[in-house]
Formats: sequence, structure tokens, C-alpha cells
Amino acid sequence: MSKYAKIVLILGLATASIWTFSAFGVGEYLSFSYLKANASDLQAQASSNPLASFAIYFSLYVVVAAFSIPGAAVLTLAGGALFGFVRGLLLVSFASSIGATFAFLFSRYFLRDWVEKKFGSKIRDIQEGIKRDGAFYLFSLRLVPLFPFFLVNLLMGLTPIRVWTYYWISQLGMLAGTAAYVNAGTQLSKIDSLGGIVSPRLLGAFAVLGLLPLISKWILEAIKKAKVYSSYKIPKQFDYNLIVIGAGAAGLVTSYIAATLRARVALIEKNKMGGDCLNTGCIPSKALIKSAKVAHLSRNLSDYGLEASETKVNFAKVMERISGVIKKIEPHDSVDRYTGLGVECIEGSAMLESPFEVQVNGKTLTTKNVVIATGARPLVPKIPGLESVPYFTSDTIWSLRERPERLLVLGGGPIGCELAQSFARLGCKVTQVEMGPQLMSREDPDVANLIEATFKREGVDVRCSHKALEFSHRENSNFVKCEFKNGAAKETVEIEFDVVLLAIGRVANTKGFGLEKLGIENSSDGTISHDPFLRTKYPNIYVCGDVAGPYQFTHAAAHQAWYASVNAIFSPFVKFKADYRVIPWCTFSDPEVARVGINETEAKEKKLDFDVIKYGIDDLDRAIADSEDEGFVKVIVQKGSDKVLGATIIGSHAGDMITEFVSAMKHGIGLKKILGTIHIYPTHSEANKYAAGLWKKKNKPEALLRWVEKFQSWRRG
Ligand SMILES: Cc1cc2nc3c(=O)[nH]c(=O)nc-3n(C[C@H](O)[C@H](O)[C@H](O)COP(=O)(O)OP(=O)(O)OC[C@H]3O[C@@H](n4cnc5c(N)ncnc54)[C@H](O)[C@@H]3O)c2cc1C
Repeated sequence: MSKYAKIVLILGLATASIWTFSAFGVGEYLSFSYLKANASDLQAQASSNPLASFAIYFSLYVVVAAFSIPGAAVLTLAGGALFGFVRGLLLVSFASSIGATFAFLFSRYFLRDWVEKKFGSKIRDIQEGIKRDGAFYLFSLRLVPLFPFFLVNLLMGLTPIRVWTYYWISQLGMLAGTAAYVNAGTQLSKIDSLGGIVSPRLLGAFAVLGLLPLISKWILEAIKKAKVYSSYKIPKQFDYNLIVIGAGAAGLVTSYIAATLRARVALIEKNKMGGDCLNTGCIPSKALIKSAKVAHLSRNLSDYGLEASETKVNFAKVMERISGVIKKIEPHDSVDRYTGLGVECIEGSAMLESPFEVQVNGKTLTTKNVVIATGARPLVPKIPGLESVPYFTSDTIWSLRERPERLLVLGGGPIGCELAQSFARLGCKVTQVEMGPQLMSREDPDVANLIEATFKREGVDVRCSHKALEFSHRENSNFVKCEFKNGAAKETVEIEFDVVLLAIGRVANTKGFGLEKLGIENSSDGTISHDPFLRTKYPNIYVCGDVAGPYQFTHAAAHQAWYASVNAIFSPFVKFKADYRVIPWCTFSDPEVARVGINETEAKEKKLDFDVIKYGIDDLDRAIADSEDEGFVKVIVQKGSDKVLGATIIGSHAGDMITEFVSAMKHGIGLKKILGTIHIYPTHSEANKYAAGLWKKKNKPEALLRWVEKFQSWRRG
């Protein structure tokens, strides 16, 4: 049924109910005074014609409950007064539960979709809580007659609770209250008002009874949590509030926040402060990308009307520059800086001895909480013959000083793409091998196609659908044998190379520092298993960063670090679930590919009701002026609204431009507001505004504009 048909039906039903209610004076019949005044007549009719009375009473009750007509309390009293306690209780119990379930189904059928669409992300936590513990909450709500019956039906219909669960929990939960009212009905002559039936004491007792299952559940969970510590001695005093293992992005931010919160923190690092991002990840790769881009530009100076002699790449100097960049940034992550911020930095390899003890450099330190931030490492695949060829990973490639003539890059993900294009621009003959059908497998095909075309134009030999099967070294050269899937056909292809760079993924560092001894397990993706509060099975041991997943970015690590740190320091008083709703990322290829939220492929897979807005950057003045007019802004918008569900930007400044959509999604700003925001002319970020403009054009009020056109023509005379 369409949205409008549903609205018409709801309004129709509501109008019909109100009309029936007032036209037939239903309110009067369902009043306490009417019942009292006519009790003896009604009792006489009920005993002279019991079966018909049962049926009429039962049906009336179901209708009243289903349509949320006021008067259920009076009807319950009538049940006791007309049929006695046992029969009254049975009739009311079934009729009220069936009626409640109808009301619940109305709400579910007519309102739930709308509520989910409108408030989906905001109420996700509530929905998950209901999925998990809905039966307990419902039982509590039903037991305390203070919570309006119709409101419970309406609200629960909007949740994912199962219909059958709803029915039987409602019946069970309402039984005590129903019994009290039916019993009161059997002594109708002694009651003067509805208010006196359930005394505050009785209400209190119901409330305790209602909360009992929830309280027992909490106690059981607390016992279960405490049980994990049963084989360990909990120190009476602790050396630290928090010990952080690993000084990469995640560990640094965690320890900094904890120190700011005046906790005593130790940060243990076995290798280099700054971890992957500074030493082998983001920083060296971005420094490489810059040198490569300058080399590329200098080769294409004629595009800008310039002339120059041939560009010579001094590979060793490029790699030395990268080391220099790292050195320059090192002080930001140094022991000195962090010591100054109040963090005790310890150089050494940490080993968890117990949930409260960490051993480092032969000394055992006690701590109230631990945060594991041990990061990830490049995956070295078990491909036969790999050990017989010279291979590098993103950990080791930075030590290269001699340019490899023929570089094989294995992997078409972000790291593989950034490095393949850069080394090609620096003069290597690069072959990039990817097992999947496209580069950047997480992105839409139109994005991947544009990147592949750019790479090919720049001389990268891109081989998608190629699966590396075997490496070999022979006749003074190196080879990889690949299986190439060409439609349904498969063929074997051999590629010759000098050096291979492995960029096929990263695995979390979970071994060798005591997790095995403590029985802390991994999830299916190899990261450490944890709950939404980033706690492992030991509530005082937290995880964050690459070792926790699911995202492997520096900004995601820093984001999680806040949760791990604050949850550890303020436990058990407050705790926050890590919020992953709006996590952006960018691959710094040229053009860059940045994304937040869902893309078109995912929107289709999820069968969402959406519109795609695509603005071509080839139309953007500033991009044309800069000869960077390639790419597009693609926004996935919820149909019928301006709500941004996701955005992908491919363009030379995509990593910066995406922030506008990140803010929009984070703070619930729609495309109308982006369109209404002044963007400086001429900038690359104007592309976001033009995309919003395209949306507006597509959603312009045609009927109104036709009227305005008529009006204008009338004014012209
Ligand atoms: C080539 C490349 C480019 C990248 N580019 C980007 C980018 O542009 N943007 C982005 O957001 N992300 C990028 N990343 C990802 C980013 O580097 C990681 O997501 C980030 O570094 C994760 O930080 P972390 O603190 O979780 O782990 P890490 O930085 O790996 O830190 C973990 C630390 O723990 C230490 N450690 C491990 N075990 C122990 C122990 N037992 N005792 C003591 N210390 C221990 C390690 O020595 C290490 O220093 C890139 C990664 C690579 C490889």
C-alpha cells in the first residue's frame, strides 16, 4: 500500500472511531457512573443470556483495545461485575491481549516504515535494545498499570519485537493488574471511583514485580562479568589507572585523553613512537605521492603552457625526502611531547600477565584498565615461490634506495593504488595485479573505471581478474603465474618483474603479548573480539585502532581512542558505544577518491529507496582553470527528501571536499542547506553546491512553477 493510501486509511479510521464514539455516546456507556447505575440490569441480562453476553462483551473489549478507545478500565470492572472473578479474568485477559495485539499491528503496519525512515539512525540503539531485551521491558511496562495501555501498544508496534512474543508477554504482564480490576468489579457496590482500585502500595508492588526480571538479568550479567576474573587476584592498589599497549595513532590519542582526564597512564611501545601512520603508512605514502605528482606535473608542463627540459627522477633522493618528512613530524608523536602531556612513556615489549598486570622490561606493572592498541601488519600471503623473489610490503618498501625497473604491485586496494601510481610516475614500469574484477573493490564501478583509465593512461599495466598462483625465479629474472578470468574462460598468464610489492590487506596484531593466555579471542576478521563499548571479555581490557577494526584508518583509530579512553577511565559510572555512523575515508590516488556513507552499489544491494545525484567536475570552473577537470561528485539521497545517505567524490581535492558531506550526515544537514550555503568562487568545493543544485532541479515544485508562470504572464498583460 502506498504512503498516501496508508495516511488516508489512518485518517479514515480515526475519523470513523471519533464519529462512532460521539454519535453513539460510547463514552457515556464506558463510564464508571453508567456501569454503577446500570450494574443490576446488566447483571440480569448476563445471567439470562450468558453465551451471547460473553460474545458481545469479548468482541466489544477487543474493539475498544484495538482502536485505543478510552474505557478499557471500566470494561475490566464490568467483566468482574457481570461474570465473576474467574470467568471475568479469563475473558478480559484474552480480549485485552488480542485487542492490544491488533493495536500493535496497526502501529507496525501503518507507522513503523515511516518512523524508521525518518528516525532510523537516531533510534537504532533503542531498536537494538528492544531486539535484545524487548520482552523484559514489555513485561515491566505491562505490569505497572501506570503506563497507558494504548501508548504501549503504539510504541511497541514501532519496534522489532516479534508479534507472538508481544502477545504472550502482554497477557502475562497484564495478568496481575487485570486480576486487581476484575476483583474490584466483583465488589462494584463498594467502589466509588476508578482511582481507588489500585492503591499506591499495590502499584509499588507491581512496579517491583515488573522490574524484577530486568534486575535479575542485570545481576546475572554482572555475575557473568565478575566470573571472568575469578581465577585472578585483583590487586588492592594499582600502579596506573590505565596502561596503553602500542603508541600508534590509537594508543597516542588514548593515552593523551586519559592523561588530560588526570589519570595515571603508561604508554608502552616496542618499536617506534607514532606507529604505522607516521613511520610506514600515511606519512611516507603521502610524501611519496607528492614527489610523484611533482614528477608527473613536470612531465606535463606543456598542459600549462610551460616548457622545461626533461625531468630526471633521483629515486634515492625521493626516498630520502620521505625519511626527512618523517623526521620532521616525529616530534609530534615523540616521547618528549607525550611525557610533557603527562603520559609515562615506556620503551619495551608489553606482555599481559593478567587482566590487571602488564609485564615490560622484566617489571610487572599493575593497572586498573588496559587499552590494547597494537595495530596491524601487512598480510604476506602463502603463495608458492614467494620466498624465492625479492618482495616488499608497506613496512619495508621505504628502505628502497634503488629504483626497481619493473615493479609488480599485488593488490588493487587503496594502498596498492596509491603506491602503484606513485612508483609509475617516478619511472618504474608498474604492473598492478588485482584478483577482483575492478580496482578499489569497495567503490562503485564508475569510480574504479575512471581510476583504471587514468592509471592505464599513465602507463600502469592494470591486470584485474588476475589471481596470483605462483612465483618463480629463473634465468636471472622473476615471474608470477596468474589465473586470468576472462568471462567464463580461465587462462594462465605469466608476468615478469624485478621486485614485488605486496599490498593485499592487513592483519591485526593479536599474537605474542598474552591474549592467548587470557583467553581473549579474535573475531572472524582476525581483529580482537569486543563489545560496542570496545571491551574485550574482560570489562577492564579495551581495544582500539587497527587491532579492533572494522575500519583501518588513522582517524577511525583516533575516534575509537576517545571511547576506549573515556569508557576505561569512567567505568563503571558511564560508558559510550563507539559510534560508526559517519566514517569517511579517502584513497589519495590522483584523482583522489573520497567517500562517506553508502555508495550506489550498496544502496542497490540494500534495496533502499534512493536517488543518485551526479555532478561532473569537468563542468567546474576552478577545476578547468587548474586542468584538473576530471571526476564527479555522486550523492546518494533518500527519495522524497534531501537527506544525504552517502557521497563519493572523485577529483583532485576529494579528500578535502568530502568533509562538507561528512558534516551534513553527522549533523543531519540536507542538500537544501548545502545549496543555501555560500561557497567561495572559484573553488573545488563549489562542486558540492552544484550537486545540491542538481538535486533541487530534479525536485523542483513543477505544479507551483506552472502557476507562477501563469501569474507572470498575467502580470505582463
Ligand atoms: C601505506 C599505508 C598508507 C596509509 N595511509 C593512510 C591514510 O592516508 N589515512 C589513514 O587514515 N590511514 C592510512 N593508513 C592506515 C593507518 O596507518 C592505520 O590505520 C593507523 O596507523 C592505525 O593506528 P593504530 O594505532 O591502530 O596501529 P599502529 O599505528 O600500527 O600502532 C600500533 C603500535 O603498537 C606497537 N605494538 C604492537 N605490539 C606491541 C607490544 N606487545 N608492546 C608494545 N608495543 C606494541 C607497534 O609497534 C605499533 O607501533 C595507511 C596505512 C598504510 C600501511
